[in-house]
Amino acid sequence: MAKKYQTALVTGGAGFIGSHIVDALIRRRLKVYVVDDLSSGSTKNVNPNAHFTKLSILSPQFPAYLKRIKPDVIFHLAAQVNLRKSVDEPFDDAQRNAIGTLTIAHWGAKAGVKKIVYTSTGGPMYPEGARMPYSEKTSPGPISPYGISKLAGEMYLNHTYHVHGVPYVALRYANVYGPRQNAKGEAGVVAIFAEQMLKGNAISITGTGKQTRDFVFVEDVVRANMLAMDRKVIGPFNIGTGKETDINTIFKKMKKITGYELPARKAPSAPGEVLRSALSAVKARKTLGWEPKVKLDEGLKKTVVWFQKNNHIS
Ligand code: NAD
Repeated sequence: MAKKYQTALVTGGAGFIGSHIVDALIRRRLKVYVVDDLSSGSTKNVNPNAHFTKLSILSPQFPAYLKRIKPDVIFHLAAQVNLRKSVDEPFDDAQRNAIGTLTIAHWGAKAGVKKIVYTSTGGPMYPEGARMPYSEKTSPGPISPYGISKLAGEMYLNHTYHVHGVPYVALRYANVYGPRQNAKGEAGVVAIFAEQMLKGNAISITGTGKQTRDFVFVEDVVRANMLAMDRKVIGPFNIGTGKETDINTIFKKMKKITGYELPARKAPSAPGEVLRSALSAVKARKTLGWEPKVKLDEGLKKTVVWFQKNNHIS
């Protein structure tokens, strides 16, 4: 059977999740282009068989680049990814995430793209207090600039679908963790714990540590992206496990894996910190045939092994 898509563009393909999507597309023998401005990504993550260009999707050169490479499918992950930063710098967030996604939708349609797989967000999309785990039937009610700009992205893609006929899928991820996650700054808790535990550094847990998140392993997220490309589906899909795990539990599990011995320090809660979050992926199971396969213990071990091997330990 002839391949449906020959060429793919991955925006943000030098980042944590994007680089794993690039690897999967190359395994499937697509010609893969990557654009990334390296604001938080690294060329170390980029598969040598991909065609990498250091470029911001907001740059005036981007539309001409897109017209030249003419991808069949775009995986759009380039974004300002930090919820807390979006509160301090909402204009940068809106530029990168809302205008960034409009750029992909508008110029993608003009360049003849056949499908866009967009990376949205789960937890920040839904109003706190709504029934858990959140389903796509829950009306979005983002209150952070990050959640708002990700929702705006979905709506621009919906517009492009209706006006220009470009199908899109918006994958609303839970908390993704795994190899290559950046452990700097406001990164995911698993990456921070892995790095700090392996270095033997002190670790702080904010608030009671009983705040919960839904942790989904990056390999499972990549599979969701492949299914989103292959299946004839449109619109939003939650990608999560439906299970809540609190930060104290993550700390304990990772302590065991790494042999870390220090107790966690207490730190004040971050203002506006979400107390609970979990996503129901029933729609993804029924419509995409997607289910998370990697259990938390296994995913945490794989992540720690990667941090041990990859020079993060000084
Ligand atoms: P990441 O920081 O590793 O990846 C983002 C990439 O986008 C980086 O490589 C960065 O350099 C690049 N980038 C940013 N602005 C750009 C621009 N204007 N032009 C070109 N490249 C640009 O973070 P990640 O966790 O891999 O996030 C990937 C996507 O997944 C993002 O859209 C993020 O919002 C989304 N997401 C992540 C999670 C998670 O738990 N990690 C959860 C929900 C959604």
